Amino acid sequence: MFPRVRFAPSPTGVLHIGSVRTALFNWLYARHNGGKFLLRIEDTDKVRSTEQNTKLIFEILEWLGIDWDEEPVIQSTRLTRHREVAETMVEEGTAYRCCCSPEELAAKKEKALSNGKPYKYDGTCRDRNITNLQSVIRLKSKLDGNTKVTDLVQGSVVVENSQLDDIVLLRSDGTPTYMLSVVVDDHDMDITHIIRGDDHLTNTFKQIQIYEACGWTTPSFAHIPLIYGPDGAKLSKRHGAASAVDYRELGYLPETISNYLLRLGWSHGNDEIISRAEAIEWFDLKNIGKSPSRFDMKKLQNLNAHYIRQRDNASLLSYMLPFLKEQISEAEEKRLLRGMDDLKARAKTVVDLAEATTVYVEAPTHYDDACSKYATDIHIALLHDVVSVLDGISGSVTEEQIAQSIKELAEQQGVKLIEIAQAMRAALCGRLVSPSVFQIIEIIGIKETVNRINSFMAYTNCK
Ligand code: GLU
Repeated sequence: MFPRVRFAPSPTGVLHIGSVRTALFNWLYARHNGGKFLLRIEDTDKVRSTEQNTKLIFEILEWLGIDWDEEPVIQSTRLTRHREVAETMVEEGTAYRCCCSPEELAAKKEKALSNGKPYKYDGTCRDRNITNLQSVIRLKSKLDGNTKVTDLVQGSVVVENSQLDDIVLLRSDGTPTYMLSVVVDDHDMDITHIIRGDDHLTNTFKQIQIYEACGWTTPSFAHIPLIYGPDGAKLSKRHGAASAVDYRELGYLPETISNYLLRLGWSHGNDEIISRAEAIEWFDLKNIGKSPSRFDMKKLQNLNAHYIRQRDNASLLSYMLPFLKEQISEAEEKRLLRGMDDLKARAKTVVDLAEATTVYVEAPTHYDDACSKYATDIHIALLHDVVSVLDGISGSVTEEQIAQSIKELAEQQGVKLIEIAQAMRAALCGRLVSPSVFQIIEIIGIKETVNRINSFMAYTNCK
């Protein structure tokens, strides 16, 4: 049988990077096994769910190339079905109505806790046959025996049924709880495998009881350890970026995020760089680790640098355009494309890249402090010589020709080439780290170069 898996995010917050990994693992499991990957938006919490968060779920999945099969299921459209199931369970005696008031329950809970005991509903209404429709519906959970999950990641986990509560399935206002809707939807969507974060493991015992009470086949479960920050706490906004949208905005490529998340908690030998095709070919549940994974920003950056280098220049350029501060002309795009090989060799993020490209588009608007080292009389005199050399060149020139002329100048003046090159870099870029100055000149042209050098000399003169 081909597996049917699902990704069931709640749009109550911006999609967490851990949820993206859950989506990826489900998707890879489906694609590896020729199954289906379904999407369900769990938007029953109307107060906290937002349209914008829902939109971002679709957008991020598309951005990552995680495509879904069939129409996405919107959970809030299925409330009638959830209610019907709860009512059928009451008729069949596997659930019951309970009219204990919230105040009574709160008092009992407080008493249990003050006696140091875990709180569990005491079953007051379990055998009272209450018919009042304003009451909640609770699961008549099994009192004896145990419930076992044979988890495909965590192994076998058993809980005594006496520990399990008669959980609420339907609230008194007729709305279903998460516990009920998730089971009904997974059943109706014919889900065969539930792959999700291990924060849901304790829910699984309760959900299995609902499956059994309804006489439905229980799917297989795989609970993935959560992602932690460097301090060992669950990765959250506190650690900086925690949502997929944050990483997109920070200039990480989708292929980096996919590869990084895949390796975070799953392994294939020592392979670090794994293509999409390889991921589909190799993915299995047995190589998911049991311990929590730590998010390593440095590793993510290095991987991004790798994928930036891998991208062809034209696709990198179009990816980068929204990161530029201003719109650029076609001529400027051409300049960027010519400089891209050099730029992409040193960028860790697309934001870095966008920053670095400004050198091809505009004269520096300010000079880093470090540039003052090259604003001495000697350097300014050298820059005057550079201008004279460049003025003597007509038409377009190559990087090599410029390098040759400047080398000759250095020899004539008896200075090291680096002294002239750094002074030129300060003048052309406003900073001392940049692609080759000779290449910059080839791309921006002699006229622009001379203008920038003159501006630098005027600036240093005024200081
Ligand atoms: N909507 C739940 C969440 O976002 C997931 C439910 C599930 O995977 O069973 O945590």
